[in-house]
Amino acid sequence: MTKTERPIAKPSDLKVSFEFFPPKSPDMAEQLWQTVEALQPYQPDFVSVTYGAGGTTREPTLATVKRLIADTPLATASHLTCVGASREEVRAVVEEFQAAGVRHFVALRGDPQGGVGTRYAPHPGGFVNAADLVAGLRDMGDFEISVSAYPERHPESESEAVDLDMLKQKVDAGATRALTQFFFDNDVYERYMDRVRAAGISIPIVPGIMPIQNLTQLKRFASMCGASVPAFIDARFEGTENDPQARAAIAADIAAEQIADLSRRGVEEFHIYTMNRAPLTIATLERLGVSAKAQTLSGAAA
Ligand code: FAD
Repeated sequence: MTKTERPIAKPSDLKVSFEFFPPKSPDMAEQLWQTVEALQPYQPDFVSVTYGAGGTTREPTLATVKRLIADTPLATASHLTCVGASREEVRAVVEEFQAAGVRHFVALRGDPQGGVGTRYAPHPGGFVNAADLVAGLRDMGDFEISVSAYPERHPESESEAVDLDMLKQKVDAGATRALTQFFFDNDVYERYMDRVRAAGISIPIVPGIMPIQNLTQLKRFASMCGASVPAFIDARFEGTENDPQARAAIAADIAAEQIADLSRRGVEEFHIYTMNRAPLTIATLERLGVSAKAQTLSGAAA
């Protein structure tokens, strides 16, 4: 990334991907599919579906991924975790997803089975970490493999160097893209990118963008995953506690401004955590001049 500020990329040059999670109830399923329908015309580069640690959402993830592949033109990636599973179990899951048409995995270790903050122990017969899982996937097929990256360091890693070393191991094992944990301070990302490139890692490190649906919940989640919520975020929302419309507009402004600023710094790809809701993602994209494309009957954008 160059330090020289560039103009914001043309809307048509901005690449976005959308992250969904598998629904846990019929109501949540309805919301997800309405969201998919609303976001599809924005032509994401790909969409991804999260996967519960220890296989807890294998069925719902598989069902969601299958329907995305069968009913939409969207390139669909499945997340995959290896915590709490033997190599054979993970391989069987990969084969199932492969049979469903999945060619892109977001390969993750997963949180410790005792929950965030407890000690991680690999399954005795399992992949030891995400790098080992990436190597296993490489052996299993010609997959596109994305992995995680942590601009503010993963809470378990003892130092930035150890954290970066894990990313390097994943890239050396065959990962071709990293999607970052969400962050709000673009300087943090830029400093991280300096370290990433200095370590000889050249794959795209795609910023994870979290439009703020609910600030209180976001802060709770951020504190668990080691992401910080800078003071300027509180300041922007101040005085809007009882005005959901104003809060939604501010949230879209913040996400769009973050993307525009990263774009000026040379970033062209963005991974948006949709939380299975369309309006805030759409408001963010529209602020950037990215608009919905008309759809033909076959589902392909005209
Ligand atoms: P790794 O890349 O293996 O490790 C992350 C960091 O933790 C490393 O840099 C390393 O420094 C440190 N570390 C790892 N193991 C150890 C250890 N034993 N001792 C000390 N330090 C260690 N979770 C899900 O359950 N399902 C999902 O679908 C999912 N999707 C995600 C998508 C993205 C883009 C991101 C950023 C995270 C996602 N997660 C998901 C969360 C992820 O599973 C957790 O953050 C988990 O704790 C680490 O998994 P990882 O693959 O990032 O780990």
